[in-house]
Amino acid sequence: MDQTKRPRAEAWFRYADDLGIGPYYLDRAAQAPPDFSGAPSSGSGRVVASGEISTPAPISSPAVAAAAVPKRAPDPAPPVIQRAAGVSLFESADRIEGDTLERIRTDITPTCTRCKLHKARKQIVFGVGNPKAQLVFVGEGPGRDEDEQGEPFVGRAGKLLTQMIEAMSLKREDVYICNVVKCRPPENRLPEKDEIATCSPFLQRQLGVIAPKVICCLGACSAQTLLETTQGISRFRGEWFDYRGAKLIATYHPAYLLRNPAAKGEVWKDLQKVMAHLGLQPKRR
Ligand code: URA
Repeated sequence: MDQTKRPRAEAWFRYADDLGIGPYYLDRAAQAPPDFSGAPSSGSGRVVASGEISTPAPISSPAVAAAAVPKRAPDPAPPVIQRAAGVSLFESADRIEGDTLERIRTDITPTCTRCKLHKARKQIVFGVGNPKAQLVFVGEGPGRDEDEQGEPFVGRAGKLLTQMIEAMSLKREDVYICNVVKCRPPENRLPEKDEIATCSPFLQRQLGVIAPKVICCLGACSAQTLLETTQGISRFRGEWFDYRGAKLIATYHPAYLLRNPAAKGEVWKDLQKVMAHLGLQPKRR
């Protein structure tokens, strides 16, 4: 490139980036992930279809520019969900005639002692949102803030989830948000198998009553629970599954995104699939 034109070209690229449409010169197909956190995005790298992060390099010549275009990895074979051996967690949780969210809440009872999580929890965190939601987000279990406030996803990860929902041009009240276990695991450890087995029939009933079009599992715990698999979430996130009349998709947990902001692009792609399925347009930035 004529070196006298370079500063002008760079200014255009920066401008495009500021507008959130860059770096189109690297990969037109790549969608800029929204900055869910409201903070400056993690570097100027963009997630491309292969899931790699591409960092735009200065373009010095068409040949260099062409070389800078990341190669698309061949599409991976569709994931095969291997069912965990043993009895389904949900065999005893088939739909109950006339079931309602209130009835499920009453059945759990505020003083539930069915599993050992009751010992350290302050309160049951049942779920929140539109009882007729087309979209349900399912997390793992309440953390400290949720245990204090009795509402799922109200802490840091929750704020990020709210931003993700808003990026989808929805409001928190439009969707339903709940967890696999309704009580906070001590020290925010993972819920254990027996706790999940005890509590997930209530999740199953919530999903049955709401009957959403899409269930979006946030993180491995909810995805593995609902899909009855022990496979790692990275093997199947972003893929559609049929789940009792709904479509289910798994994506990374917002708490993971707080630790790994570079994964926001992959999550945004998953959310875009959900939006396409629900006929939603992304919010204009
Ligand atoms: N993480 C979860 O999985 N659920 C919550 O409600 C909060 C944080």
